[in-house]
Amino acid sequence: MKCEHFKLAYQKFDGADNVIHWKDWETPEYGAYSDHMQDCPACRDWFQTQQLEAWKVEVAKYPCLHMAYQANYKCSSHQNPWECPSALIAYLDQFDEYGIPIRDGTESYWKIDNCPWCGTQLPESRRDMWIMKLRALGFDPFSDYDKIPAEYKTGRWYRDGHNPRLRLV
Ligand SMILES: [Zn+2]
Ligand SMILES: [Zn+2]
Ligand SMILES: [Zn+2]
Repeated sequence: MKCEHFKLAYQKFDGADNVIHWKDWETPEYGAYSDHMQDCPACRDWFQTQQLEAWKVEVAKYPCLHMAYQANYKCSSHQNPWECPSALIAYLDQFDEYGIPIRDGTESYWKIDNCPWCGTQLPESRRDMWIMKLRALGFDPFSDYDKIPAEYKTGRWYRDGHNPRLRLV
């Protein structure tokens, strides 16, 4: 399959408003389409750009296109990304960490420091800062986990510049 054909096939198979029928997956065209996605990095990037636009994700908020895609990827068959074999990278917004899921039934992962696709350096983990700030607020981040402020359970504690609690440290 040529790149131009890939882009046309995308509209058919994965375009935002398109609902693919299972029968389409068994066609040689779909096979060639998914092979091309594996073999052509330029079309893979183009594919992820299209998907991120459809998902209304601001790519500039992520280290690179691939991490934006991985952090926002949602599979239609698995509600829980830890159970989904198609979720290649785990993203923990709470600590701004990216990792490769270990898939031992828990939510553990190998932290990665660079994007596996383009090598871009990923942000420094905010885990130590998280512990420091919670201790300064009077919480033990581990034994008081249920009591810690809600914004510390997501990325809001470092993303929300207007959060007055952040100025305590
Ligand atoms: Zn291509
Ligand atoms: Zn899945
Ligand atoms: Zn990348």
